[in-house]
Amino acid sequence: MTEPLALPDAGSAESWINERTETALSRARELADGLKAAAARGASADALATLRIWDDVSLALHGTAGLASLIANVHPDEAVRTAAEAAEIAAQKLGTDLTQDADLYAVFADLDTTGLGELATRFHAKVLLDFRRAGVDRDDRTRGRLKEINERLLELDQEFSRIARDDVRSVKVSIDRLGGLPADFVEGHQPDADGLVTITTDYPDSLPVFDYAEDAALRLELRQAYLNRGYPAADPVLHEMLDLRHEYATTLGYADWASYDAEVKMIGSGEAIPEFIDKIADAAREPGERDLAILLERYRRDVPDADRVALADASYYRNLVFAERFDLDTQLVRTYFDFAKVRAGLLEVTGRLFGVRYEQVDAQTWHQEVTSYDVIRLDDGKRLGRIHLDLHPREGKYKHAAQFDLAPGVAGRSLAEGVLVCNFSRHLMEHDHVVTLFHEFGHLVHHVLGGQGEWTRFSGVATEWDFVEAPSQMLEEWAWDPAVLASFATNDAGEPIPAELVAKMREAEEFGKGYLTQTQTMYAAVSYWFHHERPADLTARMVELMERYGPFPYLEDTHFYASFGHLGGYSSAYYTYQWSLVIAKDLFSAFDPADLFDTDVAGRYRDRILAPGGSKDAADLVEDFLGRPFTFAAYASWLAS
Ligand SMILES: [Zn+2]
Repeated sequence: MTEPLALPDAGSAESWINERTETALSRARELADGLKAAAARGASADALATLRIWDDVSLALHGTAGLASLIANVHPDEAVRTAAEAAEIAAQKLGTDLTQDADLYAVFADLDTTGLGELATRFHAKVLLDFRRAGVDRDDRTRGRLKEINERLLELDQEFSRIARDDVRSVKVSIDRLGGLPADFVEGHQPDADGLVTITTDYPDSLPVFDYAEDAALRLELRQAYLNRGYPAADPVLHEMLDLRHEYATTLGYADWASYDAEVKMIGSGEAIPEFIDKIADAAREPGERDLAILLERYRRDVPDADRVALADASYYRNLVFAERFDLDTQLVRTYFDFAKVRAGLLEVTGRLFGVRYEQVDAQTWHQEVTSYDVIRLDDGKRLGRIHLDLHPREGKYKHAAQFDLAPGVAGRSLAEGVLVCNFSRHLMEHDHVVTLFHEFGHLVHHVLGGQGEWTRFSGVATEWDFVEAPSQMLEEWAWDPAVLASFATNDAGEPIPAELVAKMREAEEFGKGYLTQTQTMYAAVSYWFHHERPADLTARMVELMERYGPFPYLEDTHFYASFGHLGGYSSAYYTYQWSLVIAKDLFSAFDPADLFDTDVAGRYRDRILAPGGSKDAADLVEDFLGRPFTFAAYASWLAS
């Protein structure tokens, strides 16, 4: 029986993380040394036992790195965040040391693997590949350089995240410029002694302004501030990051970073990435142009000379089109999405779908706003893991929405624990944010349900990385279903959201999917071409790609890439979102839209897609569930419809 982590209180967090890291990494080093010592003695190694020890090393390294990365992004105390960053680097460094160790590699390369089961054989093949991708078969000097690059890359990645996280900008405006904004927003923004209201670039502030502020100058000013977060501080960091990734990949004989990265993804090769991006761009062109024409027609009634909709005005006019063309009042929509009810509803809906219940526990965490739950399987009462929801903004916290691993789930050895880190309002939520919450919860549930196997390597979200968004994107569909929403989305008077309103929301959501997809291809293009070309002038290349792929013209003097966090974690693979969406649409086609709670399909989905984690190739998981290989068809017809 594995127990959840006992997290420290604020006062002892720093020493706790330091001691815990030290213990875990010493243990990993000891285990690895033991494997080498046995081989040096000439003891003939038992293949399965050797692989299990190596998986224990992985557990120590992943456990440390995951926890450290979480703490570095959420802890309120900066000294603790810094200690956590150091812990993450230490774990990564040891991981590199070990996978570059030729003697250790020989232990695995020389194993007699006859008679190993299917999973252990798969694990063995992955281990050998990990060593080769770390450059274990290169000479000392090359390995030394690769190690240096790895360490520096992690520092750069952290620095890039830190820049985006800490660079919160704001504008000050007089209260009479808040016209169009929701009443709860205005209430939450009381003027200071000079009669001015401060609006920050954090989501709960900036999104309502982009969507609703009638004052075009305010939208423009805040959009500029928003798109300049991280600039210019991020430029040297990104240049060095792109150069080092390129050097790393080419040193190992790959054409470029994207080729190195794609080797372990579903897409398979670097060159396939721009082809895929262009395929999506082609499919999005016609629906994109159709909807942009409608948007522009509305825009021209206010800005008669415009030949394109300005970037800073796009969200606001999309909302006007919602209101005028689809008779959708998005401010009315918000009144049905009170945060506390949404959170309760999410747990209810996903519990029913996946056959689990969530039992709230009073666990020590890093902040009093975090709520924690044990995840209990309904049929046998077994605790599958623990989740923590950290859902509101605060200073020094990660600015976007993401799932972090607190502990990998491995049967009998480590209880799966995961954390949602988001930045939602504490009161009324935009429906977009409700969708985001379902999305991120999809990762969390994947982490927990997939964390019941015997190998750390295949635990949870351990499939090819360009598949990982598919389960989350599919779960978004539940946040669009009238029956699902009516089960928890009620207004102050307790009335559930009407089905006709949800129908309008869906109709409106369909509007713009073509050009929103174009925006996604633009991001994917920036992510790929920045890595492929390493342009000297990042802004100039970004502007070209915005013009080529994006639906809106470049907004002068802005630099969105400087806070485009995915350049850190996803590197050249932002295409993942569309790749996964192709699969998500196909997976969803197996469900009956009239009954999203059909437990047969949901159970099959849980058992064949989520529970196996990375124990099979993602394409095989999908085929196991659908009974056929996945295709582009469901995505294409969704986009064209
Ligand atoms: Zn996601």
